[in-house]
Amino acid sequence: MQYRYYKQIKFKGTINSFDNEYEYMSLDHIAPFTYMGENYQTINEAYTAMKNLYKDKIKSLKVMQEIIYSKYLNNLDLKEKLMITEDMWIALQVKDHDNYWHNCTCSECFLEQGENYYGRLLMEIRDKFIYDRSKQRKYTHRKWIPKYF
Ligand SMILES: [Zn+2]
Repeated sequence: MQYRYYKQIKFKGTINSFDNEYEYMSLDHIAPFTYMGENYQTINEAYTAMKNLYKDKIKSLKVMQEIIYSKYLNNLDLKEKLMITEDMWIALQVKDHDNYWHNCTCSECFLEQGENYYGRLLMEIRDKFIYDRSKQRKYTHRKWIPKYF
């Protein structure tokens, strides 16, 4: 998915810790959702259940994308929270050398830029939600709001 083209967003900062107000972004945050007909409590739980089925990297990223998407579709309060972070880059800083999903900043890894696949997928999904709503708004505007408004 590539949605960023529709609107040039200038990032105002980076969300690099999933503590406090951003705890809901954590892979282990409990927010029940359904994916492929099964119920899961966390993204980690769903991905762990699925990952052995998909050895291929692209397919496994697609699965992760679908899992994240399902979580937010099933938790609309979190979807709203995610959407208002639209001007923030998301890249969790970790110390456990996970440069695949996140970005490790330990003394061995700090020169390496993490792939940050989780953050990137989350931002793509956020963009999709914003894009979908902007289309919806246009429609509402045409249909219900007088022209002079
Ligand atoms: Zn490291």
